[in-house]
Amino acid sequence: MKTTPLFSQRIIDWYAIHGRKQLPWQLNKTPYKVWISEIMLQQTQVATVTPYFNQFLARFPDVLTLANAPQDEVLHLWTGLGYYARARNLHKAAQKIRDDFNGDFPIQYVQVLDLPGIGPSTAGAILSLSLGQHHPILDGNVKRVLARHGTIAGWPGKKPVEQALWALSHQYTPAKDVQKYNQAMMDIGATVCTRSKPNCAACPVAIDCQAQLSGRQSEFPGKKPKKAIPEKSTWLLVMTHQQQALLEKRPPAGIWGGLWCFPEFSTKEKLDEYLIQEEIIFENETELPGFRHTFSHFHLDIQPIFIQVAAQKNHQVMEQNSSLWYNLPNPQKVGLASATERVLASLRSTLNKE
Ligand code: SF4
Repeated sequence: MKTTPLFSQRIIDWYAIHGRKQLPWQLNKTPYKVWISEIMLQQTQVATVTPYFNQFLARFPDVLTLANAPQDEVLHLWTGLGYYARARNLHKAAQKIRDDFNGDFPIQYVQVLDLPGIGPSTAGAILSLSLGQHHPILDGNVKRVLARHGTIAGWPGKKPVEQALWALSHQYTPAKDVQKYNQAMMDIGATVCTRSKPNCAACPVAIDCQAQLSGRQSEFPGKKPKKAIPEKSTWLLVMTHQQQALLEKRPPAGIWGGLWCFPEFSTKEKLDEYLIQEEIIFENETELPGFRHTFSHFHLDIQPIFIQVAAQKNHQVMEQNSSLWYNLPNPQKVGLASATERVLASLRSTLNKE
């Protein structure tokens, strides 16, 4: 009688034929490269990450170069990837590796787990993918495959659901070929067992996948319970002089932490008061196109107000923050929030029409 190979063996066999082996961080693998790729790949797809990864590695080829770089430059190379806390933590972790490990990436699981921005799955991925150490992983892709295969009900953000999925990951992760197995699980989650259209016909574990057998793929993993998220509004002052626009550096914590943004006001009245107080002279005031930016915990309706001033002063709205006249034709290398980039794009097109 023909028996079905073990779950892990089917995954490893699939990897030999279909797995991704030529991604930039998979060539001459090191813990450093895998670390950068794993952080960039959180909430972001391979196709988006690849050019960012290449640029990042060209500028920061090793931990020490990254640790010694100004934060602005790190955030600059992250601009467009979003979730900037990841970049700030990456920079902090590099400095910790420089200070505590002499610049060598640690190879003990607990030491890796102790670095800023690294959780149990990322620590396991770095050490298993780069060094073949035996650690199970549980990123979003792996959660989806395991939740469907074992019909594990509930939202994985809930502790008991997450624990059940970790237990499965421990159970299936093989003693041998863990590198291939972990990479394959991530690849299957990303390319076969996709969120909305799982391609079960191409899946190596379809034969005993409980969701597939019962036609309930869309029920797993369970969705996050919906709550209404609040709406807020803000006004941005887009003050320009010739081809330069005034930006301010945000405080390190909070939204857009450490990034350069336009001065922000909670109401239009506050923006007007500020212009009067600072005796800022300008001729016309124009509304640039407003838009909604959604954070994980609220919607922010943004209205940029554009003025052109006759003289350049180092105005400052937020206390203790530095300001910068951002050169539109020759931009400085600083980190910009995506909302700032969007306003800069409409500013450039407005200025070009003049
Ligand atoms: S059979 Fe389908 S639902 Fe089950 S793990 Fe494979 S792709 Fe996902």
